Amino acid sequence: MLIAGNWKLNCNIREAIEISSSISNTLADKNLISDVVLFPPVIYIDLIKNKINNSKICLGAQDCSIHISGAHTGDISASMLYEIGCKYTIVGHSERRINKHESNNDIYLKAKNVINNKMIPIICVGENAKDRESGNALNVIEKQLSESIPKNEKNFEFIIAYEPIWAIGSGKVPTLESINEMFNMIRLWLLNNGIDKSIKILYGGSVNKGNANEFFSCKNLGGLLIGGVSLKASEFSEICIMAG
Ligand code: PEP
Repeated sequence: MLIAGNWKLNCNIREAIEISSSISNTLADKNLISDVVLFPPVIYIDLIKNKINNSKICLGAQDCSIHISGAHTGDISASMLYEIGCKYTIVGHSERRINKHESNNDIYLKAKNVINNKMIPIICVGENAKDRESGNALNVIEKQLSESIPKNEKNFEFIIAYEPIWAIGSGKVPTLESINEMFNMIRLWLLNNGIDKSIKILYGGSVNKGNANEFFSCKNLGGLLIGGVSLKASEFSEICIMAG
């Protein structure tokens, strides 16, 4: 299981150190089998890495450039993220797909850069409320998978995060039945594309300590991608402990 905490555009330096140290201290003697990854704003990664040294917690970035280097003011490349100690990079979060108009092809290029720089991309997919209501959710996700996942890289590893857009930050969650239906479709898609069976599928969207156990009962669940609650050190740590 992988429990990932996406801090988004939150925290000042003091809060970033407090949250990460608190999670690290709480989990230090718990012998978790699960992996825990924090995704702070990129500017705090180096600082946090040094504060939580020797801990089993990994760090990742919330995004990377589609470019490798060059005249791209403000961008941060996958190789730079690898150099500062990132093990994972999220690509295709719905907030970037929607607010920054990122296409499936952009996500594909970013995921390729992450893989080529020895990190693991967490490739996000998710349908909006309209697609869910019209019964189109499975088709939308299948198209996102087909167009965002690099299938021909050598020795590649990636993770899929299924995050229904309408569930993010809304307090609404899908039924277990619809999550299982989606996970089964994703598994079938992976199988049909000859991709390793061990690829993890995460669920994300309004996870908290009150509903986490329900998600853990999902067949095929590889872990959770948690937004808001990952900023609450004690609740996030409790979920990590529940994951085992
Ligand atoms: C997210 O943004 O990836 C997310 C899952 O957010 P939240 O947990 O706040 O719904």
